[in-house]
Amino acid sequence: MSLNLTNLTCSLDEIKDEMYSLMENLFPICRSITGNGVRQTLEILQNLIPLSQYEIPTGTKVFDWIVPKEWNINDAYISDSSGKKVVDFKDSNLHILNYSIPQDTEMSFDELKKHLFSIPEQPDDIPYVTSYYNENWGFCLEHNRLLKMKNEMYKVVVDSKLENGFLTYGEFLIKGESKDEILISTYVCHPSMCNDNLSGIVVATALAKYLKNFNLKYSIRFLFIPETIGAITWISQNEEKMKNIKHGLVLTCIGDRGKFVYKKTRMGNAEIDNTVIKILQKSNSDFEIIDFYPWGSDERQFSSPGFNLPVGSLMRSIPNREITKEYHTSADNLDFMSKKSLLDSFEKYFLIIEELEKNFEEQKSNSNNSQKKLIHNQEDYYLNINPKCEPQLGKYQLYENFGGQYDTEKKYMKNAIFWVLNLSDGFHSLKEISKRSNLELKLVQTATKLLETKKLVMRKTNVNP
Ligand code: ZN
Repeated sequence: MSLNLTNLTCSLDEIKDEMYSLMENLFPICRSITGNGVRQTLEILQNLIPLSQYEIPTGTKVFDWIVPKEWNINDAYISDSSGKKVVDFKDSNLHILNYSIPQDTEMSFDELKKHLFSIPEQPDDIPYVTSYYNENWGFCLEHNRLLKMKNEMYKVVVDSKLENGFLTYGEFLIKGESKDEILISTYVCHPSMCNDNLSGIVVATALAKYLKNFNLKYSIRFLFIPETIGAITWISQNEEKMKNIKHGLVLTCIGDRGKFVYKKTRMGNAEIDNTVIKILQKSNSDFEIIDFYPWGSDERQFSSPGFNLPVGSLMRSIPNREITKEYHTSADNLDFMSKKSLLDSFEKYFLIIEELEKNFEEQKSNSNNSQKKLIHNQEDYYLNINPKCEPQLGKYQLYENFGGQYDTEKKYMKNAIFWVLNLSDGFHSLKEISKRSNLELKLVQTATKLLETKKLVMRKTNVNP
């Protein structure tokens, strides 16, 4: 059967309802980067698609990172001196700082405050906060609720476990005629929030379910992985498969009422870029195209200089609270979703794959990877010493001498660090990095010096004549 929306085995309305009801099923589960929440999520998906589940042990070295301990939680609450629960994990799993270590203690409000997170500008929303790599505990709550807490003793219970275990991910490959692959990657690590990240999970699942009935030229690989550490783990365990990936999309934040936003690949003119833009232009939907930047979701691991794969991301509202106030809060719930948007997103991804299939040509090597060009001696070129995925920046204390006093300065510095790491492939001079990132050359140079002292980049010495 030829790949076409009209050849689907059921109506688009049924697919729309299926996606939404899957989202309702997955919503209550407390997910994290490891643990039973991910397993439960994958088990539900296994009822719909033949997903394989993989378990990678704690302590496994994955490039510059190590698979962390597994986290699971049963219950958590804060109760006041009268015994009344004032914050309760059972009301919303966002109430717990994700990865909180166990607690069973009493403390004053002054002590407790150091462990409470809220957003004063959005006093009715619970923020989503994590602490994966610094052992800590805490509660997240509506700012209005925090204001009601009194200066008294509180009982704090976190019934969680952080111990050796596994990182779990799911994978499903639709085998096409060719070993050349299209990668659809989504993440499965966020607790009760819809757009980020259930929308990605349900659209990817529907695509996998319905595309597998067609005879395809490309193979299509679906990844359901915890964000960042899961992507790095998958890549490190499957490095030999990376060469088969010819086009990729990270599927996330796609169920809200916003217009489509396409974040281009690192190279910016790959076939997937042209294909997505063509499909968006052909539709009546409003859309925006943005250039690649080396932070965001897992596109940045696939696009790290050691791989440089053409992986973009077609989303809707940009995952950044300055732009989308629902992002990473309890306001990213089922009300924030639109069934119509979910279906429209499903259709766009389907059409993109259909278009790639039409233009299929067996590719001998990834021509997008060739970056050869004349290099001028007088400019500064650097090499990322860990070019495969991003290094675990947290362990290098990059910002300790930079001070925490000016958040904006710190943010620019952070951005500069990401850009220098991503473009230090020996082919981009610091001047070019400055131009591409829109950051001052001086800042790029400072970031590079800092990375050099931490042995994360080195000056390229053998420059072509
Ligand atoms: Zn997120």
